[in-house]
Amino acid sequence: MLYQSTRLGSEKVKASGAITQGLSKDGGLFVPESFPFISGDMLTKLVKMPYSELSAYVMGLFLDEFTPDELKGFTKAAYNTQNFSSQEIAPLSKITGNTYFLELWHGPTCAFKDMALQVMPHLLIESLRKTGNKHDVCVLVATSGDTGKAALEGFCDIQGIKIMVFYPKDGVSEVQKLQMTSQCGANVFVAAVEGNFDDTQTGVKKIFSDDCFEAKVGNKGYFLSSANSINWGRLVPQIAYYIYSYCNLINKGVIKQGDRINFCVPTGNFGNILAAYYAYIIGLPINKLICASNRNDVLTQFLNTGAYDKNRAFYTTISPSMDILVSSNLERLLFELSGKDGSIINSYMSSLSEKGRYDVPELVLDKIQNLFASGFCSEEDTKKAIVDMWVKNSYLIDTHTAVAYKAMCDYREKSKDDSVSVIVSTASPFKFCESVLEALGKPEADSGAALMDKLSAYTGVSIPRPLISLKDKTPRFSGFIKQEEMKTAVMQFLGG
Ligand SMILES: *Cc1c(COP(=O)(O)O)cnc(C)c1O
Repeated sequence: MLYQSTRLGSEKVKASGAITQGLSKDGGLFVPESFPFISGDMLTKLVKMPYSELSAYVMGLFLDEFTPDELKGFTKAAYNTQNFSSQEIAPLSKITGNTYFLELWHGPTCAFKDMALQVMPHLLIESLRKTGNKHDVCVLVATSGDTGKAALEGFCDIQGIKIMVFYPKDGVSEVQKLQMTSQCGANVFVAAVEGNFDDTQTGVKKIFSDDCFEAKVGNKGYFLSSANSINWGRLVPQIAYYIYSYCNLINKGVIKQGDRINFCVPTGNFGNILAAYYAYIIGLPINKLICASNRNDVLTQFLNTGAYDKNRAFYTTISPSMDILVSSNLERLLFELSGKDGSIINSYMSSLSEKGRYDVPELVLDKIQNLFASGFCSEEDTKKAIVDMWVKNSYLIDTHTAVAYKAMCDYREKSKDDSVSVIVSTASPFKFCESVLEALGKPEADSGAALMDKLSAYTGVSIPRPLISLKDKTPRFSGFIKQEEMKTAVMQFLGG
């Protein structure tokens, strides 16, 4: 299987090339030239598989350069009870009626990013070998909070790899910040950057598109790669849990094979929900994908009107991992729905960088709306959703999952669609203690890790194992840099 760019270039690469390179030379994102399909018979077989086996199978559909045994080795090393606190890896909780929560935060950093970043280092290392790359790798990550820590955990102390994480100085929660700045490992570097997530992400993108800088890094013996969801190696492991949760519903007797279900996904960079779309493309029976946004509702507006317009205020919210105005992975969806015509996508993206907006034609919008619904949630409503879920069901959700829960409720009310629905739960509430406590009417003067105890004492819910040890950790990285200083920071980290 070959991968092509979503833009003009005619570059075609194998999976290993897409994973090592991250971004295509023309600035576009790599997408599979064609898609595999899971037959009904195969789905019947997947229903009985444990997570690691199912995910190896699903990844194998896209990564045909890797043998089934290689992939099984990777997924066994990633999805086990040493790394995950749930035997099921991605358990499904029934809370109310025919609404389920797919809990993707039982991994080492308590956010769904672990689902991909526990396995991605294996994919990257093997891809480097397959492409004959002799350089060491420097993985650059722009993070709105959760990717950074998950990537640090995934890549920490792996030979031949260095990892640098940049996060927006005032854009992450206390627990997220401490998780990153206290990361151990000799091959890691963490820096706060002035501005918001888009500024940080732009800084990283600028580094990747600077050929001269790439050459300089090359002279130092390094090769730059990314672990953001623009990298195919991040997306492909995420497709698996949609299929797994569907199989789980069959096993629980909730649905029959072939029944269509809804997924509601709290969305930022459009990576997670795009993985759901790919699951749909390869045959998972999905009725609607509900894209949930916080107050930064640029995607809701787009999905309703076909106009993507980032000329608007940027809000810092209590669901910081969704504070994004440029959702990079939307480009991949548009590519599929625009007849795989890179010139069209290129014109949208030029328009986005020149005028801050683009408009898709009615025909494309219709196709989008056939499958996608959308909703957004104010700060007030996010807090109300947390309280509502806690009071009615004694189930504690984080601020991002709360956004999805609210969008799901609104969608049901408006559409009268009562199909079985899965809300994708993306983080442990303990990562966002300040906001969760405040929502519950228990604001606390403490900060950082001490708040986890307060939340646990108040709710009786225990702190996830990986977060408990945070209380005793001291930050290794402090201070902040400007966007213009990011390149210098990279060079310094790589030895001058
Ligand atoms: C990253 C993240 C999101 C957004 O996911 P995308 O793939 O960027 O759309 C939502 N919730 C949490 C907790 C996250 O960490």
